[in-house]
Amino acid sequence: MIRRIGVIGGGQLGRMFALEAKRMGFEVVVLDPQEHSPCGQVADEQIVAAYDDMEAIERLGQSTDVVTYEFENIAIASVEYLEQHGYHVTPTSDVLRITQDRLLEKRFVRSCGIATADFAEINRLDDLSEASMSIGFPAILKTARGGYDGKGQWRIQSLDEGRAAFSAAKGAKLIYERVVPFARELSVVATRGANDAVVCYPAGENTHDRGILTMTVAPARISDNARLRARTIATTIGKKLHIVGTYCVELFLLANGELLVNEIAPRPHNSGHYTIDVTQCSQYEQHVRAICDLPLAEPKLESNAIMMNILGAGKGDHLTGEDELLTDPSIVLHMYGKRHAVNRRKMGHFTMLVDGAVDEPAIARAKAAHAKLGWQD
Ligand code: AMP
Repeated sequence: MIRRIGVIGGGQLGRMFALEAKRMGFEVVVLDPQEHSPCGQVADEQIVAAYDDMEAIERLGQSTDVVTYEFENIAIASVEYLEQHGYHVTPTSDVLRITQDRLLEKRFVRSCGIATADFAEINRLDDLSEASMSIGFPAILKTARGGYDGKGQWRIQSLDEGRAAFSAAKGAKLIYERVVPFARELSVVATRGANDAVVCYPAGENTHDRGILTMTVAPARISDNARLRARTIATTIGKKLHIVGTYCVELFLLANGELLVNEIAPRPHNSGHYTIDVTQCSQYEQHVRAICDLPLAEPKLESNAIMMNILGAGKGDHLTGEDELLTDPSIVLHMYGKRHAVNRRKMGHFTMLVDGAVDEPAIARAKAAHAKLGWQD
């Protein structure tokens, strides 16, 4: 019987997961090096330690019935430790190994018969000229491991720029990717249970600013056919990866209708935050259900939605304008309890519930609401 859930990582995804788990009657223990972390503020207990502190990992395993993680850049050794010592941890280290490494991930996706952008592995300077000849420019060089929110990425137009990026990467293994002229960026948030059942939220449509998600429109403004294919891709990936829990598949939709997978996140995702406010069972509750071997819920949108991230500006730690924002009854504000609004740090988000179509006027309303917010000391 599962009563206590352990979470490695104390950020906002852990926090929203913990809030749902606690509402459902579970206790939550989080492990994070930063005291009073966003998740630690709402959990029953926080173990303050590094993600790869094996004594702390042992304590987390001992004090809980199942362990999960809220982001993929944790030490794989921690998940392996839990597995080797008989603790129940999900998703498994096999899932983490693939999703931590962009090269393994893209090869895995292709092995499922699903398309990705053209790519090549870059270990040496020589690999760069070979890749540029076969794939061409413009291209993106990304660190194979450890990058997030656009970090560890360089757009390149020439071999010279490629060489500069290669030296900036300081010997890290890289992936060379063709820049895809996508019409839309999409994501499908899905959950797979231990019994192999998969449920999917409808594809959302994402806007990024220099690699950081800024807005999700749900559902995406795409054809039923593209929606169905995106769902099929996400389902296939979940089943072939044998993931148990909520995950997200990010895709590029090309003008000719083709879908390419960009990334897999083995956890609840920023583009699924809106599910808290407009579905009967959020992506976080689905994750609780999956890892506790409870039945999944077929998602149903009770309203369309636009989610906007609230990023720090490096100019003060206190949000301003929320009183005006909240005069709009269609807006639900979520703040993460982070003390310092470092420039471009994810501090919170809001969901705007949209009656009818998510069209340009609705998006303009959400952007106008977002523009009311600022930061002060
Ligand atoms: P990633 O960290 O791979 O999710 O990349 C962050 C963002 O950079 C994506 O959401 C896209 O907006 C953009 N991006 C990444 N890879 C490509 C690509 N191959 N072609 C075009 N845009 C890309």
